[in-house]
Amino acid sequence: MSSPNILPPRRRQNQLFSGLLLIFLILSSVYYMTAPERSEDEKLTMAKEVPLSEITHDYASRTLTEILIRGSNVYAKMSSGSYVQSYKEIGDSAATLGWNDPENPVSVRIDNVELKNFFKAHLSDLLFFVLMIGLGMWVFRSIARSQSTALSFGKSRARVSDGKQVQTTFKDVAGCDEAKNDLKEIVDFLKSPKKYTTIGAKIPRGALLIGAPGTGKTLLARAVAGEAGVPFFSISGSEFVEMFVGVGASRVRDLFLKAKRNAPCIIFIDEIDAVGRQRGGAGFGGGHDEREQTLNQILTEMDGFEKDTNVIVMAATNRPDVLDVALLRPGRFDRRIFIDKPDLVARQQILEVHTRGKKMGKDIDLEIIAKQTVGLAGADLENILNEAAIFAARRGMKTVSQKDIVDAVEKVALGSEKKSRKINEKEKKITAYHEVGHAIVGHLCEESDPLHKISIISRGFALGVTWFLPKEDQYTTTKQKFLDEICGLLGGRAAEEIIFNEITTGASNDIERASSIARSMAMRYGMDADELGIVSYGERQGSQALGVDLGMSRNYSEDAAKKIDAFVQRTIAGQYERAKGLIKAHRMKMDEIVEKLLKIETMSLDEFLEIFDGSKRKKAKVE
Ligand code: ADP
Ligand code: MG
Ligand code: ZN
Repeated sequence: MSSPNILPPRRRQNQLFSGLLLIFLILSSVYYMTAPERSEDEKLTMAKEVPLSEITHDYASRTLTEILIRGSNVYAKMSSGSYVQSYKEIGDSAATLGWNDPENPVSVRIDNVELKNFFKAHLSDLLFFVLMIGLGMWVFRSIARSQSTALSFGKSRARVSDGKQVQTTFKDVAGCDEAKNDLKEIVDFLKSPKKYTTIGAKIPRGALLIGAPGTGKTLLARAVAGEAGVPFFSISGSEFVEMFVGVGASRVRDLFLKAKRNAPCIIFIDEIDAVGRQRGGAGFGGGHDEREQTLNQILTEMDGFEKDTNVIVMAATNRPDVLDVALLRPGRFDRRIFIDKPDLVARQQILEVHTRGKKMGKDIDLEIIAKQTVGLAGADLENILNEAAIFAARRGMKTVSQKDIVDAVEKVALGSEKKSRKINEKEKKITAYHEVGHAIVGHLCEESDPLHKISIISRGFALGVTWFLPKEDQYTTTKQKFLDEICGLLGGRAAEEIIFNEITTGASNDIERASSIARSMAMRYGMDADELGIVSYGERQGSQALGVDLGMSRNYSEDAAKKIDAFVQRTIAGQYERAKGLIKAHRMKMDEIVEKLLKIETMSLDEFLEIFDGSKRKKAKVE
């Protein structure tokens, strides 16, 4: 890889290097200074032992060149160059021994052994000590640096990871083939920018990843860095939003500076909508100035890149509708990459990716799971497989079985079962009729999603569930389908009324959903063409495509409001009658199914059809 190192590691390396150099210098100078002494020492150990009087005699006769006193050892260097050795009493000094004749040219040297020995013996300890202090300081400083985010607000908290550390590649991202294709271009810009600049093309500055939560935006951005083998600087938009005005902007400056030093690289700003909201817009409370300044700084930095700065800014959002238009201008985030919820094939591939590294049983059929998970995002699928592995482990199994995964899908889709909740017999019976009511009506309405499962085991707040599986990825819905859905939702309440001639609170959620469908038909889809015309009522806030709905603001007259309400009431009443009719017509079958359901608690489609088979699905009249 040709990209230069990231700054902080290099600085640390420098420190380590200079430390080592210093130690080396100390050691070698000590060695150097003691060199002559050591060669003398060698000779001294070879010295012949003689009586002390002989040395005194030789001193007087001047046949010596030097006397060396070291503690109680006395050495004498003869004119011939050889040494002799003797011992003196501790109290004796050169003077008491008579070696202090100023006329005598023989020099007397007193070697302070104590100090030297101390130094020699403790040199290694001393070095060790110095080393420990150095190490301590280094550790202290790195701790201080890691905590400095708490102290120095302005420093970017971007998590820096070396290009080598990003191991994620496109192989880890299943599906999203179109997004991957678009991003391949960016990988190529990063890898061989020359190809583009020599021809005069400007390398794009930014790419915006747009998709619902959990669809793999972050994953894709990392994969781009992994594919190109460049460093990946990531920061989340929400991290910019701090207490103090100006902090976000200085963080941005810092982050871009760091990135430019490490080009080619990727800056990834997650959740950019947190800072990139439409400026000047009201209603988002505090931190407004702060966000504006941060955003301005991002724009300034992106404009300020040199023509050949090979830094690509990627950002992710699930709220493209609230982004400031300035962000989307050419030269900024001009590449927009949409990431859809995965379709059937993609879901199967994502499941396959996440079975890697898990021990899977032989009975696994991921296609079935993919079919049961319409509308779920990659993160949900990953979660399902993890739950499945947990189930398997809890059951004490060695591998994950298909049943584990199916259970996990149910848990994720419907909430976990609460088998322990005590429900009295009457309540249980009402629940059973209510759920079978949904099932029969839904099954009989041709456009309704196919029935999948009925359960009277309570989950979350619901006492029972009737689970319809959406058909594969429908993008448009017909009026008939809306009506059938409303009818199915009212099936539970209809059954309660017919069987018990009594109504419970159990249908509140159903009623809410039915009403909301009817209201949308009138207000958004122009399905009450006679009364209301093909007109959209109410201004939507939020992006429907991504499932974010911040509600409606009212932009229609009192008269229109009355007509909308009338349509909703009319539609619901009509479908309620239809549901009651369907249940009355299949009353016998219904009792049979309920009886079975009370026994087995959960019923699959097959078990349902075993009893219900005779009755075909019929297309009911519209309204
Ligand atoms: P987002 O940033 O869009 O909210 P993430 O990239 O954080 O979503 O995705 C969360 C997790 O979901 C990822 O870590 C990954 O494990 C899984 N995931 C999502 N989409 C995919 C995909 N297409 N292929 C494989 N895994 C995926
Ligand atoms: Mg993300
Ligand atoms: Zn219900």
